Amino acid sequence: MIKKTLDQQLKKASEIIKKSKRTCFFSGAGLSVESGIPCFRGPKGIWNMIDPGFIEINYFLNNPNESWKLIKKYFYDFLDDIKPNDAHKGITKLQNMGYIKTVITQNIDCLHQAAKNKNVYEYHGTLEYMVCMNCGLRVKSSNIQLDTLPPLCDKCRGLLKPDFVFFGEPIPFKAQDQADYEIKNSDCFIVTGTTGEVVPAGLIPMYAKRNGSKIIEINTEKSNYTDYITDVFLQGKATQIISALVKELTE
Ligand code: NAD
Repeated sequence: MIKKTLDQQLKKASEIIKKSKRTCFFSGAGLSVESGIPCFRGPKGIWNMIDPGFIEINYFLNNPNESWKLIKKYFYDFLDDIKPNDAHKGITKLQNMGYIKTVITQNIDCLHQAAKNKNVYEYHGTLEYMVCMNCGLRVKSSNIQLDTLPPLCDKCRGLLKPDFVFFGEPIPFKAQDQADYEIKNSDCFIVTGTTGEVVPAGLIPMYAKRNGSKIIEINTEKSNYTDYITDVFLQGKATQIISALVKELTE
């Protein structure tokens, strides 16, 4: 019975995607769970193990050593080992088939790019780069040794910070601008692996819905969106559902 309902929902979703003139894929931490990266929230979430205060901007500036020890442990130490999963790869297939135009991600793990997704907008920035808090120089994280902490800028010896949005920092203007464009111009959003609890990112699907967009949601659990704005809820793991969508849209 559950399988039959999911099959019907998959058909409904693929009809919406086929009719859409511009589809935007909106991702959260759940998309990368099957690559071995935990979510922040929920029973197995990182915030159950550690207080998120170490990535609050004023704490970071006042306690760079303590903050960097945890940033290294929770973000950089695993970065070399992670790989895109079948959901990331499925997005590439859907883009190559012409069904997805852009990707807005809240994730900072670079896995959309690693899977060769196109037109990826990183709303919360990325671990791939660090930025100097003194001179603004942006450097590739892979060129920075983390043996001695905190890492310092080669040019001016200022403090380096990962180029993702810390608590207390604004969303970069360019990222907001790109999100606003998609809200205005896309007629379908595929919202995957996000609770919708982090704002302003979580508001993007809400504004898109208000602008007339259809909302297809993929999640293992109901989210803040499911009973309010979601048109088609595809319940399950991102890898399984996106692979099924690719199959449905290939037939
Ligand atoms: P979240 O941790 O609040 O929620 C994750 C959501 O994913 C939940 O709704 C959960 O039910 C769902 N989920 C879990 N496993 C799934 C799976 N296999 N398939 C589909 N859905 C699954 O995440 P969030 O809403 O993205 O917000 C947290 C913030 O933390 C975001 O801003 C994000 O940038 C950041 N974050 C990023 C990463 C990363 O880059 N990989 C990891 C953790 C957190």
